[in-house]
Amino acid sequence: MLLADAALTLEGPPANYLANVLRLGPGAQVKLFDDRTGEWLAEIVEASRKRVSLHVVAHLRPREAVPDLWLLFAPIKRGRIDWLVEKATELGAARLVPVLTQRTIVERLNLDRLRAHAVEAAEQCERTALPELAEPAKLAALLAGWPPERILYFADEGGGEPLLAAAAPGPAAILIGPEGGFTDQERAAIRALPQAKPVSLGPRILRADTAAIAALALWMAAAGDWEVPVAR
Ligand code: SAM
Repeated sequence: MLLADAALTLEGPPANYLANVLRLGPGAQVKLFDDRTGEWLAEIVEASRKRVSLHVVAHLRPREAVPDLWLLFAPIKRGRIDWLVEKATELGAARLVPVLTQRTIVERLNLDRLRAHAVEAAEQCERTALPELAEPAKLAALLAGWPPERILYFADEGGGEPLLAAAAPGPAAILIGPEGGFTDQERAAIRALPQAKPVSLGPRILRADTAAIAALALWMAAAGDWEVPVAR
């Protein structure tokens, strides 16, 4: 956790980025965030190729308020899933949950790599909060333990209410299927959940990553997130 007047040392990729990519040295000021206390101004005290020491100077802003929206998505191929995590972070998702379905073809996920993409995206768009990245879970287990107060917008290429009309503020989640879609059995199980609302994303069948990002953007806009000005 960052604190006023604290001294800290960075190693690994963050140190490499500051010292070797940006070529910053003693006296340079940088902004840091820790996903808990918000954003801080810090000054580099010492920089070597592998290690950067900093002094935390001032608190700039608290951790941002995050719309209570989870994205549940069936893992897709590397490259596309990296893009999905990057864009979901930019759009402000609170939690990313990989869901294992019957037609999910990618079952092994490198969560550290995905987390690194989320951190990079948060830095790039000046978020002060990271989405929580959950362990992959089976669809049936997620449905069995579904929180009673959270609406589950289930993107169903078979049809539903347009998401733009259905989206409402309050705890919510969007569920996107794998490239092969959900099986009829899965579709019936999801629809049987009282909190599930089948929604449509329009007349075209979107790729899973496009569907996820389009749905996030729609929900965020409908729930008022896009009316909030850029915080700096
Ligand atoms: N193989 C499926 C088919 O041919 O019907 C298409 C699956 S689609 C590539 C992947 C996921 O994106 C779907 O399971 C669904 O969650 C979502 N999706 C894509 N287009 C959609 C749409 N127009 N409306 C609702 N959901 C959609």
